[in-house]
Amino acid sequence: MLFWADNDKILVGFGKELGVMYDYLIVGAGLYGAVFACEMKKAGKKCLVIERRNHIAGNVFTEEIEGIQVHRYGAHIFHTSDKEVWDYVNEFAEFNNYVNAPVAVYKDELYNLPFNMNTFSKMWGIKTPAQAKEMIARQIESLGISEPGNLEEQALSLVGTDVYEKLIKGYTEKQWGRSCKELPAFIIKRLPLRFVYDNNYFNDRYQGIPVGGYTKLVEKLLEGTEVLLDTDYFDYVKDHSKDVERVVFTGMIDEYFEHRLGYLEYRSVRFETEILEEENYQGNAVVNYTEREVPFTRIIEHKHFEFGKQPKTVISREYPQEWDPGKEPFYPINDEKNGKLYAEYEQLAKAEKNVIFGGRLGQYRYYDMDKVIRAALDAVRAEV
Ligand code: UDP
Repeated sequence: MLFWADNDKILVGFGKELGVMYDYLIVGAGLYGAVFACEMKKAGKKCLVIERRNHIAGNVFTEEIEGIQVHRYGAHIFHTSDKEVWDYVNEFAEFNNYVNAPVAVYKDELYNLPFNMNTFSKMWGIKTPAQAKEMIARQIESLGISEPGNLEEQALSLVGTDVYEKLIKGYTEKQWGRSCKELPAFIIKRLPLRFVYDNNYFNDRYQGIPVGGYTKLVEKLLEGTEVLLDTDYFDYVKDHSKDVERVVFTGMIDEYFEHRLGYLEYRSVRFETEILEEENYQGNAVVNYTEREVPFTRIIEHKHFEFGKQPKTVISREYPQEWDPGKEPFYPINDEKNGKLYAEYEQLAKAEKNVIFGGRLGQYRYYDMDKVIRAALDAVRAEV
């Protein structure tokens, strides 16, 4: 068991009532838990953060390898249109001016993402938005889809056959381990379609990567808060349930309730990370491999997130996989079946008066980082 911060203060500030040591026991040292802890500390509350893993920062954890900040649980690019959230994170870290502009490889072809005039011009040899729109409209019309009932139909009715077959179908089926016909339509709304020559993946007003990595940012958020690493909530509460007033739970909501209504499904990812003896492997931070036959979905070259010039480079291949106990859960699977089960868990959660459920796993939601921070700030406001 390790103490991350403030070991010496561990016995200081015993709670308001006899026997209660902490106003909040925060389960999980990811973004939600860290923001909640930071704000509650400002409000004069005493928090303890416990974390099952041996490090803080949850899935935004970064670690320095060969002088490069490596995103150990997949690429995290901070983007938001929420000015308050942007100002907030900038209090804890300086953000660089990285703009995400991924490239997609399909067989021996290479395209810019998101789908924009660069993509269309390469695909069809055209130049103008009118030509691209006509091409897409012609393909969509020939399909005759009136009401898209799943991701495949949604994608086809948005972008037509070529873009779907080359850039969406294989990638999506690998990522979710399901046929596009079985996936809900809304996932694809995350992919913008643009008729300008603009490779910026996100539409948000603000974007960047924290200089020095996300771990440093989370460390700052947790400054002055006690953190116990390698500490499992379910073990901890056996002996300490009386020590805490309220709980903030950011783990898997179905695990909290001991899976009594059944298991929610999650998608996990396996990373193969390699140090290469070359300066620049792929010339871009993110390269997606969109054909079904390539087993990984993308290769991340971490140094390009921070314009690194180190002599070596670090790359990670991402292999999506089904989650089972023992693996890290990454994505909730927001299809109909899981949505229904989550709604039932949500009812149980509402009845749990002294527990706040937060974050991607606690709320079973495909949250981006800014939304997690927004939710944590709102939760604090509702409490104090
Ligand atoms: N997607 C796709 N082709 C790509 C990249 C993304 O079809 O080259 C689709 C896919 O359905 C995926 C969704 O867009 O599930 C969201 O992908 P993104 O990379 O934005 O999500 P992340 O994993 O980074 O949260």
